[in-house]
Amino acid sequence: MSEMFNAVVAEKNSEGTFSVNIKALSVSDLPAEGVLVDIDYSTLNYKDGLAVTNTSPICQKFPMVCGIDLAGTVVESDSDQWTAGDKVLVNGYGLSQTHWGAYSQKQRVNPEFLVRIPAQFSTEQAMAIGTAGYTAMLCVNAVRDHGTDPQDGPVLVTGSAGGVGSIAVMLLAKLGYSVTAATGRPETASYLKALGASEIIARDDLARKSKPLEKEVWAAVVDSVGSTTLGTALAQTKYNGIIAACGLAAGVDMPTTVLPFILRNVRIQGVDSVMAPMSLRERAWSDLASLLDASLLSDVYRIEPMSDIKTLAPAILRGEIKGRVVIDVNA
Ligand code: NDP
Repeated sequence: MSEMFNAVVAEKNSEGTFSVNIKALSVSDLPAEGVLVDIDYSTLNYKDGLAVTNTSPICQKFPMVCGIDLAGTVVESDSDQWTAGDKVLVNGYGLSQTHWGAYSQKQRVNPEFLVRIPAQFSTEQAMAIGTAGYTAMLCVNAVRDHGTDPQDGPVLVTGSAGGVGSIAVMLLAKLGYSVTAATGRPETASYLKALGASEIIARDDLARKSKPLEKEVWAAVVDSVGSTTLGTALAQTKYNGIIAACGLAAGVDMPTTVLPFILRNVRIQGVDSVMAPMSLRERAWSDLASLLDASLLSDVYRIEPMSDIKTLAPAILRGEIKGRVVIDVNA
């Protein structure tokens, strides 16, 4: 009998009742994908919280192994691109949705989904970054590609004490932008300043009904919150500014008018990490490797065992997680 290992498996019974449990699987249970990976770490993202609690229908088929991010070592490969011993990661690509995911000690993965972990990072650090950090990099690259320079004015980061927000603050500060961090947790102010924020503002300054146009403040915005926060940020974005919009922590609505677009030339750039093409992923990971300060990164995350996933998942949905949580799939 082949060796058994643990995985977090979401199932629906014949009445349609959803459940999540840690189950013992063997390699023969895994999907027939080209690369077998021994997983060291996964992460806890907002989307993982939605999936494990079934708050949104993230898992689209059952049984489903949860977890959208993995980092580990290739054990077997039928692809010329990968050989045993390669250190690899996957972000998104439908893991935990349509493809079995990362909350597992082993997984078989489509070779086209894999990114080589930059030499600077361990598998633990790669997951400290995870989808949240890689999405933050996609947002920051959208701001840079728009042509917004540090001298154009302050950049607002919403949901700043969360995963996307914390790493966006670090990256923008490293690139020389003056970062204003919006948070609903004033007790995180010293943490956010240590990451590079120049100013801290209260979440409630933005999470309100806004006028169609307000005083121009932000050269750019990285928004992981949505709803009225995004609406107010739009009304305060300077002429020719950009908002990189990636999240929905406060809701999926976006109360606004066309005025920021037609009177201030403001651009809103959607950012999707899940199906982003490989060229954007490789660029983002290369940029993360050159920009992220490893000692600062160590202040952003903590490691938790996979066995605690059912406690951790609702905590991220309640907005209680500061920075990032790395999931040790072997604990
Ligand atoms: P986190 O929970 O770590 O961060 C979200 C932060 O948003 C919280 O820490 C909190 O920050 C703030 N927040 C939470 N609830 C509210 C609320 N009701 N009103 C205003 N602010 C709130 O999640 P992640 O960083 O992992 O993800 C952030 C968002 O980005 C999620 O919506 C997620 O789905 C989305 N996302 C999208 C991706 C994409 O591909 N487009 C990829 C990754 C994430 P604070 O306490 O500082 O106020």
